[in-house]
Formats: sequence, C-alpha cells, structure tokens
Amino acid sequence: MSQPKVIIVGGGFAGLAAAKALRKTPAKVDLIDRTNHHLFQPLLYQVATSVLTPSQIATPIRSILRNQMNTTVILGEVSGVDKDQKCVIVSDADRKNVPIAYDYLILATGASHSYFGHNEFAEHAPGLKSLADAEAARNKILQAFETAEAEEDVARHRDLLTFILVGAGPTGVEMAGALAIFVRSTLKSDFRRVNPASARIVLVDMAPRVLGPFSESLSKAARQRLEKLGVEVRLGHSVDQIDGDGIVVGGERIASKTVIWTAGVAPSPAGKWLNAETDRAGRVRIEKDLTVPGHPEIFVVGDTASLDQNGKPLGGVAQVAMQQGRYAGKLIHNRIVGNPPPGPFSYFDKGSLAVVGKGFAVLQSGKVQISGFLAWLTWAAVHLQFLATSSLRLAVFLQWVWTYVTGQRGDRLIVNHHGTELAKPAADANVKPAFAGR
Ligand SMILES: Cc1cc2nc3c(=O)[nH]c(=O)nc-3n(C[C@H](O)[C@H](O)[C@H](O)COP(=O)(O)OP(=O)(O)OC[C@H]3O[C@@H](n4cnc5c(N)ncnc54)[C@H](O)[C@@H]3O)c2cc1C
Repeated sequence: MSQPKVIIVGGGFAGLAAAKALRKTPAKVDLIDRTNHHLFQPLLYQVATSVLTPSQIATPIRSILRNQMNTTVILGEVSGVDKDQKCVIVSDADRKNVPIAYDYLILATGASHSYFGHNEFAEHAPGLKSLADAEAARNKILQAFETAEAEEDVARHRDLLTFILVGAGPTGVEMAGALAIFVRSTLKSDFRRVNPASARIVLVDMAPRVLGPFSESLSKAARQRLEKLGVEVRLGHSVDQIDGDGIVVGGERIASKTVIWTAGVAPSPAGKWLNAETDRAGRVRIEKDLTVPGHPEIFVVGDTASLDQNGKPLGGVAQVAMQQGRYAGKLIHNRIVGNPPPGPFSYFDKGSLAVVGKGFAVLQSGKVQISGFLAWLTWAAVHLQFLATSSLRLAVFLQWVWTYVTGQRGDRLIVNHHGTELAKPAADANVKPAFAGR
C-alpha cells in the first residue's frame, strides 16, 4: 500500500516544527517554501542594524532536514488550495500552477506587512519581514550616513540623519535601541564632516505606550531606557502621511529620508485559498485540534491561524507557531500509525522578552517581571537556543561577544543588488530606488 502524502506549506517556525514531528512517520512529506531558507525573524533587526550578517540568522531548509529521509523540500510558491481535489497549486521557476496532491495538508504560511490600508506608505517606509527587507533597511541606514558625509550643505545633515521607526512594538523598540547604539558608538569615529552621534532616532506609535503586550511597569522601563539612549519616543498619534521627505504625525511633519515600518502584520492569504472563516485580521479560524472546520485533513498553524485560549486570541509569536506545528505533526503521525489522538491543543506560554540596546532587556513570564542586565542575559540565551543549527548558535554567540566587547559590528556593507544609484541616469525619475523594488 502506498504511503500517505503530507504537504507542509511554509518552512518557518510552524512548518519546520511540523516537519520535524513527522520525521518517524511512515508518510511522504513535502515541505514547500518560496524561499530556500528558514529565517529567524526575531533577529532581523540585528541584520538591519549591521550587528549580524544575513547568513547568521537563516539556514537552508534543505540542510536542516537533510537527514530526514521521508521529507522532500521544494522551492516553490503556493497560490491556492483545491479542497475537493485535495491538492495545492504550486509554481516554481520552471512551471506554473502545478497541482500537487495531499492526504494531509499543513498551511504554515505566516504573515507579511500591513500598512493598515495605506499601501502607499510602502514605497517610502519599507517593512522588516524578510532577509531582503533587513538588507534593504541596512543599505538605507548606511547610505544615509554616506550621503550626509558627501553633502556640503550642513543644513541638510539633520534631515539626512533623522531615522524614523513607525511602530513601538517589540520590533520597533529593539530596532530603535540597536540603532541608537550603532550611531552613538560603532560609527562615532568613522566620519569627518558629520557627527553620527548627532543622528536623530524617532520612534512613533499611535498606542499610548511602547511594548503594548508587556506590563505597564516594563513598558515604562523600556521607554526610559530608550530615552536614555537618545531615542525620541512619540506616542498617541497615528501617522497621517509618509512620503519621500518624511512623515506627518499628529499634524507635525518630521523630515527624514529613512523611515522603517514595524507597525503591523497581515496574515498570508491562506483563508482565501481555503474559503474558510477568518478573524477580523484575516487569520483562519481553526478548531482546538488546529484543523479547519469540516476538514480534518487540513491544518492551519502559526501566524496565519486564529485560535482563542482562555477567551483570548493566541498571539503571533514564534512559540505559538512552534508548539502548533509540533502538535499538528504529532496528530497526523498518530492518525497514520493508528495511535489515539493527543488532547486539544493547549499553548504553554514561556514568557516574553524584548531587548533595548546593549545589556538591557525586559522579561515577563507569569508573575515574574524583570528588566535590566539579567533579563538581557536571558534574552541572549533564549535566542541562541532557538536558532536553527549549532553552527548558527556558535557564530551568533561569537559575534555578540565581539560586538559587546569592541562595539564593532558584523556587516556594514552597502550591497546594492540593482547597481549603484550613481550609475543611474540623473533624469530618470521613473527608476525606483534599489530598496523599494525588491
Ligand atoms: C521583525 C520580527 C521580529 C519578531 N520578533 C519576535 C520575537 O522576538 N519573539 C517572538 O516570539 N516572535 C517574534 N516575531 C514573530 C515570529 O517571527 C512569528 O510569530 C513566527 O515567525 C511565525 O511563524 P510561522 O511559521 O507562522 O511563519 P513564518 O516564520 O513567517 O514562516 C512562514 C513561511 O512560509 C513561507 N511562505 C509564505 N507564503 C508562502 C507561499 N505562498 N508559498 C510558499 N511558501 C510560503 C515563507 O517563505 C516562510 O518561510 C517577530 C517577527 C518579525 C517579523
């Protein structure tokens, strides 16, 4: 008898955990992802701020699963699901819209940026979700210093060296802290005409406090720390406009050539593919066993799924994604080998962490709330532990020690994959800047 076929779409935290849970299952497993790597998104901001290189936070999915003989990794983009024919529609570099049949399907396609209906912001305020985004942000930040150094008109330096981060959640706060350390210490001796330490870093959010998911006291500690690092924190107003000259927030224009968007996420279109019920954000509503109602063979897990626990929706964080992926894999394994199913999915919250610059983090786990160096050590240990391979753990650990001791960073290259700005015809106003089109 032929073995059942399991298709996993997405090799992020949820999809990879599901694949690993199926390693001993007598099944053919296909893991399909549109990138060839598993990305550790929590450290993307460190690539954007030159602490780490892209290859220190991402690993080829194929190499992670190289010893898992029942699993085939396919580089392809899924664009739909045919629930009746039980197949996913996949395109790759060579073939378009190929149906691939499944007996069990796990959709773990994550989320992308949301500009809250203002998609026009995207051109001037790129987000931070992929390696390409992080490299683009790094290019943009480094380019701003180069442009300022070359600019003889001192009056323009302030605008060129104003960096705005929209979104004061964990990503915005972590990025603002890292950027402040970068400009005030790493770059301090590298320029002659501009003083990097004078760079202005502005963090804006419509929420009344930074780090909304954390307690008020930790949020306050994080804000104080940011302000100590010289970050201007502007809360309580939504951004009305973002253009090539900066932003308008609360009726005030802040001039800047570098705006980064860390404010919102939107789930993948899995809900549309399945024509299934979604929550207001568009995440697929799933049963307690993580299946789609009426389809016990289809699982949706991670950031693209919506499930309540104790009356509250589970958050879009890596721990939820990993635990759900593991559960879906285990449930499918049990069904295939004829074991009883596990009980309903229950998320075990190990706590939340956010780092604010060098040697300072906030930690919230149950009743435990701490901020400072101990929380930072915990943050570092947890992030090292969850990197995908031991070689990444070692590389990131050594880089962090080096950066901590010397203040120097790993990757300060401006890598422009579309040629240099200088090479462009000056009059060609239709050519987009390199960072905007990738
Ligand atoms: C900048 C940033 C910082 C974060 N920091 C933290 C943190 O500190 N702690 C924390 O817990 N969480 C953090 N998160 C959230 C965490 O990364 C997500 O909750 C987690 O990645 C969700 O896992 P996932 O498997 O659902 O999706 P992802 O990890 O996003 O994986 C989705 C995968 O699906 C693939 N894919 C998507 N669409 C398709 C398609 N159509 N066809 C084929 N493949 C497709 C993608 O290429 C990707 O590999 C952060 C997120 C970001 C963006």
